[in-house]
Amino acid sequence: MATMDHILTWIYRRWLPAGVLWQVKTREKVVYLTFDDGPIPELTRDILEILDQYNAKATFFCVGENVRKHPSLFREIKEKGHAVGNHTNFHVKGTRGGVNRYMEDIRQAGAVIDSALFRPPHGLITRRQVKVLSKEFSVVMWTVLTRDFDYRVNHEECLKRAMNGIRPGAIIVFHDNLKAREKVLYALPRLLQFLGEEGYETEKLG
Ligand SMILES: [Zn+2]
Repeated sequence: MATMDHILTWIYRRWLPAGVLWQVKTREKVVYLTFDDGPIPELTRDILEILDQYNAKATFFCVGENVRKHPSLFREIKEKGHAVGNHTNFHVKGTRGGVNRYMEDIRQAGAVIDSALFRPPHGLITRRQVKVLSKEFSVVMWTVLTRDFDYRVNHEECLKRAMNGIRPGAIIVFHDNLKAREKVLYALPRLLQFLGEEGYETEKLG
């Protein structure tokens, strides 16, 4: 299963145009934690507290409609010194509908999310969309998927996936959503503990 993931990602990476960010180029022991889909009252604050406990900085790829529903949570993320990114307004799949509709949705999200970072929902984006988006955004993909959203992946495996993927400049994906909640609350503090022991720092993108 992991092998299949790797093969598909490998093909996808080569198919997408250059300029899409899969890993930050660095030799420093630094990794980039990212949280997609929030903010939501059921989880975002817990994530912020855990990050604070470990003095960690992260990037939150937010959904525009969630930002509109929970503006104070969105403000808290920024006030705590984390970065925010655009994750569309309605969590739109990039492979559906044309470029213009996709861009329109992203602009709606941009009205409430002031950021030049963009991550496509479901990780799905076309070559043409990348070309158009790259004029305004840095399109951020990932180095490590914890698969915290996947019911077939349990707490321990989620943590193991994150730990196994640690290397300088790695971009790690977690989800700030209900499906991932229990796994994030389990894996995040343990990962941060591990990173500290390995001499790694966390930074926000941007
Ligand atoms: Zn998402």
